[in-house]
Amino acid sequence: MAEAVIRPMEVILVAAGSPTGRAAEAINDLTRHLPDPGEPDFCPTCAGRSWPCAVFDDAASRVHTARLQLGDVVPLDLHPRLWPSSAQPVSPVWPSGPAFE
Ligand SMILES: [Zn+2]
Repeated sequence: MAEAVIRPMEVILVAAGSPTGRAAEAINDLTRHLPDPGEPDFCPTCAGRSWPCAVFDDAASRVHTARLQLGDVVPLDLHPRLWPSSAQPVSPVWPSGPAFE
């Protein structure tokens, strides 16, 4: 049986009043619902759910609402999946989520 590969994480401190600090809960939610390396189609937190899952979509929407770049908190190996037409997100548009105006 193959051993599961867990995505490496970093813990950082940011000022609570900064834009990133104010979106910390959304970023944490989003990060908890990232797929493991080599398993880009499945959310490891939502058992049996495909990825991106509803919790990820919601967290991504909250990150966008906080005016942060979604691509800055999504691992690079997942960028082609979320933004298939380019290696880097041109704008923080969430392709499968609600339209952001
Ligand atoms: Zn999930």
